[in-house]
Amino acid sequence: MTNNHISLTLKTFLYFISFAFLIVLAFWILEIAVLDSLYADSRKENCYDVASYIENDLKKYNKYTIEEDVADLRNAFRDLESDNEMSIWVIKKGKGGLFTNIYGITIPPNTIENLWKKIEKSNLSENFQETDSLFTFSKIITLEDDSEVLLVLVSRIVPIDSIVRVWRRQFYIISIIIVVLTTIFATVVSRNITKPITSLNKAARVLARGKYDTKFEAYDYAEIKELADTLNYASSELGKLDNYQKELIANVSHDLRTPLTLIAGYSEMMKDYPSEMTKENLQIIVDEAKRLTTLVNDILDLSKMQSNNSAYEKEEYNLTESIEKIIERNTKLLTSVGCKVNFESREDVIIEADQTKIEIAIYNFLNNAVNYCGEDKQVIVKQVVEDNLVKISFIDHGIGIEKEHINDIWNRYYKANKNHHNRGIGGSGLGLSIVKNVLEGHGFEYGVNSEVGKGSEFWFSAPIIRIMESENNEK
Ligand code: ADP
Repeated sequence: MTNNHISLTLKTFLYFISFAFLIVLAFWILEIAVLDSLYADSRKENCYDVASYIENDLKKYNKYTIEEDVADLRNAFRDLESDNEMSIWVIKKGKGGLFTNIYGITIPPNTIENLWKKIEKSNLSENFQETDSLFTFSKIITLEDDSEVLLVLVSRIVPIDSIVRVWRRQFYIISIIIVVLTTIFATVVSRNITKPITSLNKAARVLARGKYDTKFEAYDYAEIKELADTLNYASSELGKLDNYQKELIANVSHDLRTPLTLIAGYSEMMKDYPSEMTKENLQIIVDEAKRLTTLVNDILDLSKMQSNNSAYEKEEYNLTESIEKIIERNTKLLTSVGCKVNFESREDVIIEADQTKIEIAIYNFLNNAVNYCGEDKQVIVKQVVEDNLVKISFIDHGIGIEKEHINDIWNRYYKANKNHHNRGIGGSGLGLSIVKNVLEGHGFEYGVNSEVGKGSEFWFSAPIIRIMESENNEK
């Protein structure tokens, strides 16, 4: 199969790789553009912290002279110096430096003198000085005995080359690791994501070839599992339809062949032997021709309705009267099965519907009730008015329908009791499917209650437009 679409595997893979690329890019931008200034800022902040720490310390030691505490302070500052990678100088006016630093950054005495002057001149107690590579923070601290000391912190603000080199190397390694790991991860994930889809696709192709027992399996993801369930449902429905269709061809060809054989046989016999031209024999030909008509009409009705579902010509009409007429019109046919139909109604009900189509539905319900009527040979058609609805039921005391078939009988070509069909009125397995089409098309409720061996009650209900009191109540 050729198509211009990029495969899901490749797409997922590309998404992951782009993501990795973006992360690496972000790393490099960080390294090139912001790292230096970030480093400088953090060093400055560091200076402030250390300065305030030392200030507190110096004030604490003030009860002694600073010279006496040299040893203690030197130790404390040494730790600070190594922890913060800076040189710390505390200088008492006129007496030179108290401490030497451990990093070998020496500040010439005139620089200290200058710093002191600068601070005093600026009327500020502290001063920053930034050169290319050094950051000098100086501050005059007044101790509790009012004597003043100068605190000088010297720190490198640009990362020294070796640090930068180490960082660069780390960046290279991290970038390579990210790219490699993402490639592996992307390959595995994209394969995993697309594997169930590929397998569903394979199964769907098998289904398309007409193998309706194909099973779609997918357990990994909820969405794919849902899709697999839907496909399983679709394949089982397609399988059923296929079976129904095969059965229909078998049934229809059987149902067509039997009356056609009879018609042809009797006609030829009467042609050859004119004495056989009796009323009974002619009746057989008429009956068989009728059965053929029913079958062909059913098929035509259904296909017409399915191709033109919305074309309902609705009008207000007397439903009760129309049921009476249907029963009357078909009395002969019904009595040929030896069945009696009782219609129970109290009033004439006007509904709005497509009369012709609803009559087809009623005829089919009636036909079935007669076809499957029990030994009492009684069929009851009952009209009940409930609130603003009229419910019409078709009740027989025949074989009933097993629970497992009850949902399928509305499907096309479905015949639940294949061996119990009265031959009086031919059945195509299409009747209830036509009924369903008509009633759903009108938005009417319908259903069936049935018990095996006791009989069935098929019903539908429709909104009432008007009620007219009937002249003779129970009919
Ligand atoms: P058919 O032409 O075979 O009657 P329908 O679509 O009208 O087709 O009905 C489908 C199936 O439903 C029938 O084959 C039969 O098995 C079952 N069925 C319908 N009506 C009744 C009924 N009143 N009693 C028992 N079974 C029925």
